[in-house]
Order: sequence, then structure tokens, then C-alpha cells
Amino acid sequence: GRETRLRVVLRVRPLTCTETRRGDQRVVHSLGDGTVHVSAARHNATFGFSAVFDAGASQETVFEGSGMRQLVELAIDGFSCTVFAFGQTGSGKTYTLMGPLTQGETQPAAPGLLGLMQRSFACLLEQSRSCGSDLVLSASYLEIYNEQVRDLLSPGPPCALPLRWSKTRGFYVENQLNVDFESLETIANLLQQGSQRRRTSAHALNRHSSRSHALLTIHIRSRAVSTYLAPLGEGACGAGAICGGENSTYPSKQGTLCFVDLAGSERVKETGSSGELSVEANNINRSLLALGHCISVLAKPRGKRTHIPYRDSKLTRLLAHSLGGSGITLMIACISPSSRCLSETLSTLHYASRARRVTSRP
Ligand code: ADP
Ligand code: MG
Repeated sequence: GRETRLRVVLRVRPLTCTETRRGDQRVVHSLGDGTVHVSAARHNATFGFSAVFDAGASQETVFEGSGMRQLVELAIDGFSCTVFAFGQTGSGKTYTLMGPLTQGETQPAAPGLLGLMQRSFACLLEQSRSCGSDLVLSASYLEIYNEQVRDLLSPGPPCALPLRWSKTRGFYVENQLNVDFESLETIANLLQQGSQRRRTSAHALNRHSSRSHALLTIHIRSRAVSTYLAPLGEGACGAGAICGGENSTYPSKQGTLCFVDLAGSERVKETGSSGELSVEANNINRSLLALGHCISVLAKPRGKRTHIPYRDSKLTRLLAHSLGGSGITLMIACISPSSRCLSETLSTLHYASRARRVTSRP
């Protein structure tokens, strides 16, 4: 129940071939110790985070250094954990979470390139096996596209699911599919199939730009054991006694681990979007703005907070619990080092810095 700060880390992707070819300058420099410096004409600013990963950082380094492994362990322990990637379109959010695997390529990605999600699945299944803990695992996968919540795991054409609120559950999605899994292969296939259903389009900044926010949630339930022998020295039995015959139950724990791949913010002018693409972009930008407003309010000290506008978008309703409730949250801000992305980069850095002041009570 203690207040815990959101953990915010930053990942700076390498310059792409196109950026290098056209001679873009690198304006973001990691200074070590969790700080980055942005230097360009009229802009000189330093920002600090829990960790900074620069262009040379491997997927493994990001997994270990971001605190993702601890988040998996906390979810097994019964906490609601969320990791979300945000940043401009083309800044490396999907790459960080899933690796290059789900971007339409038919070849599976090399193991070294697997993202935080696959690494977390492996860690989860490993823990589940090694400590003999009896975990029941299931997954659901949703996207929010043009302010509609759609199930990415149910077969057939996507249909909108209602988002409801109840006193006991908070905001929840009705009728979403929840699929049990026991192996790495099954969950990797669910991720792959769901991601292929996800809405993406090509535009000037990213050939496979995600046009929706995607939320993959792993539900972790530790099976309740109906009878057990209380450990020695516990309670009424006294030292040396074994409490045979006393029927007790282990409390069953229920944790969640949610991965949120946000659609990127974009300036319609830069992506060259028009028609349907610009409607999508406006919906994306509006929900990201709503998220920004919630974060601004949440970043104030508890006594000074006004009403938190979760209801302004489907995205903020679904993230309400992770942001302001009893969840534990890791944010991964993604940026490009290119001079051409300077204004979006600065806006992501400000957004991320503000998020560092948000607290929750796990
Ligand atoms: P976003 O999801 O933020 O729109 P993507 O993850 O799709 O962006 O990344 C855009 C492009 O940059 C992709 O081609 C991706 O493979 C590449 N990329 C992103 N981050 C890295 C990285 N750390 N190392 C190598 N390539 C990257
Ligand atoms: Mg993406």
C-alpha cells in the first residue's frame, strides 16, 4: 500500500538507413548515469530517467536493465503490472516490445532480437516450472482502433466490444476472449496471430505503422492448494508440532502482466496522411492527448490532484488502474536521435519526465 513511483526508462533507437543517407544529424546523446542531452540549434536540454538505452543497446540489455524481469516476478506474486511503450511513430516501440518478428516478415526473428514480450513469456514459464509453483496462465489481446475496442484473438472480422465499468472491477471489456496457455510456443503464436490482425498502414515515417493501441494481458493465477501442513512454529501448534489434519488453504494469488504498444503520435504533415489515415491519426492523437492530461494530473501531489479525466478516451479508461490505482507500471519512452524528429523527441522527453512524478499504491 506504499506509494510507488512509476518507473520511466528511455530508449534511443539507431539512425535508420534513410536518415543516415539523407544526412540527418544525431541530436540526442546519452551521457551515462540515466541522462540524455539534446543539443540542436536553440535547444539544449538534459533529461534524467531511471535508465537510458542508446542506439547500441541490445534487446537483452533493455530487458535486464529496464526492470522488466522484476515486473514479471511481481506479476507472479499477484500484482497488476503494466509496461507501456510510447513515442513518436517510427521511434521503435513495437521493436522494443516484440522485436522485428511481427512486422510482416515471414522469417522468424533471430533469438537475440526478440522483444520484451517474448523474453517475459520465457521468464514467466521458466519461473512457473522451476520453483514448482502451480501457475495457471491465460492471455487476452485487444486493440483500440478509432476509439473501438476489438478482440485480436477471436477469429473472423474484428467486431467492437463494449467497455464497461463496475464498482468491483473498475473498467473492463465485456466478452473478450481469454485463452489458456502452457507453453512458450502457444503464447508466441497467440502474439503473432493477434499482431497480424492488428491494424497497420504504411506512411512516410514507417512502412508498418501501428494504427491502433494494442494491449496484451497475461493473467497469472496461482492454484490454491486445499490442504497443507502449516510450517513449524507457526501459530497455535507450537514449536516442533505438525499441524496434521488442519485444513487450511493457501490464498490463491492473481496477478496480471499487461503490455501496451501505443500507436505513435504523429504530425499528419510529416507522415503525409490523408483520408482514412488522417482520421486514424486524429483518433490516435486525441487518445494520446487524453493520456497526457491524465498523467499531468496524476503527477501532482495527491492532495493537489483535481478530477482525473480517465473517461476522456477508451485508452485512459483501460489504463486507469495501472496509472492511478494499485498497479505497478514501467514506461518505456522511445525516441529517434535524428535532427528531423527534434520537436517530437522533445515532446516525448517532456511527457516522460512528467510521468516520473506519477505514483500508485500497489
Ligand atoms: P513504432 O512502433 O514506434 O512506430 P517500430 O518499432 O515499428 O516503430 O520501428 C520503426 C523501424 O525502426 C522498424 O523498421 C524497426 O525495425 C526499426 N528499429 C526500431 N528500433 C530499433 C532498434 N533499437 N534497433 C534496430 N532497429 C530498430
Ligand atoms: Mg508500432
